[in-house]
Amino acid sequence: MNDLLTSAEWTKQRNLLPWASETSCVPPQQALRHLQTAFVNFFEKRSGYPSFKKKSRKQSAEYTRSAFKYDRATKTLTLAKVGSIKVRWSRDFQSDPTTVTITKSPSGRYHVTIILDEPEPKHLAKTGEAIGADLGLSRLATLSNGERISNPRHLGGRLGELAHLQRTLSRRKKGSGRWNRARLKVARLYEKISDTRADALHKTTLDLVRRFDFIAIEDLHVRGMSKLRSLARSISDAGLASFRTMLEYKAKRYGKEVVAIDRFYPSSKTCSTCGYIKQDMAMSVRAWDCQSCGTHHDRDENAAKNILAVGQTVTARGGGVRPKRTTVRRGNRQRNVKHQGATRA
Ligand SMILES: [Zn+2]
Repeated sequence: MNDLLTSAEWTKQRNLLPWASETSCVPPQQALRHLQTAFVNFFEKRSGYPSFKKKSRKQSAEYTRSAFKYDRATKTLTLAKVGSIKVRWSRDFQSDPTTVTITKSPSGRYHVTIILDEPEPKHLAKTGEAIGADLGLSRLATLSNGERISNPRHLGGRLGELAHLQRTLSRRKKGSGRWNRARLKVARLYEKISDTRADALHKTTLDLVRRFDFIAIEDLHVRGMSKLRSLARSISDAGLASFRTMLEYKAKRYGKEVVAIDRFYPSSKTCSTCGYIKQDMAMSVRAWDCQSCGTHHDRDENAAKNILAVGQTVTARGGGVRPKRTTVRRGNRQRNVKHQGATRA
């Protein structure tokens, strides 16, 4: 398919293709709509040029209301031309799904994601507490009150194992049976790592939102700019990006506030006690003494304290630290709730 098709053209084309009628007509139409959105975002300079999908990456099919049935009594999901599928729902929901998306991960795992029209949850009780968080590589986060939140256990060992599996994969002949088995192993371990990581991030961000009314973090690109492109680094960068996303949506949902401070603020090098700025501090320096006031600092805890102080100053002035991001939303009260089924292909 070299040219862009409109929905109407696709309907005409599909009648000529014998295999096309074996599937529902809705997912291809939805794919065209997604492509349309991708181009609008590209032309309005919100994102890059749309890229082609690959069969080896995540696959997805989106079904709108006319293409699926959900039986509330038996909690059965029936898809057009597929039939009823077994889903292990990860949580309960009251309303009927408005959109159903089936995704298949590279390791062959299927997930069902549904859009619901659920009432917004109640805001959490105010605690009157504020906190600054410094996000890191060796530790998930360090808080301005001295608390340390560590990475999920076994992360280091698993990363080593992943690197090993990837080296094995690169030695295999592409397309061979041995290559395919190695590819599956890499994909499974990669998913295991990102699932564990996502779980830890959900727990941590929810905990922060519960305990604090005001949370200051650093705008992320600071650390992401590092030249070091190790495996651990790229996984950590992805984790830091979702840390912020999760923190922001959970704070909004539960009526708390998150501020991301300017990425050029020298949070690690500034003394949180007296404001002295230390010149030239290597990444390896984990603790230092202020030359001006003599305070002994843990690098990350000091950074977290500065992040909190700057966050509070900026919000007090009423000015934003960064331009508001424009997000495209489907409806006011709709929110994505992810439900997972774990069927293997
Ligand atoms: Zn000082």
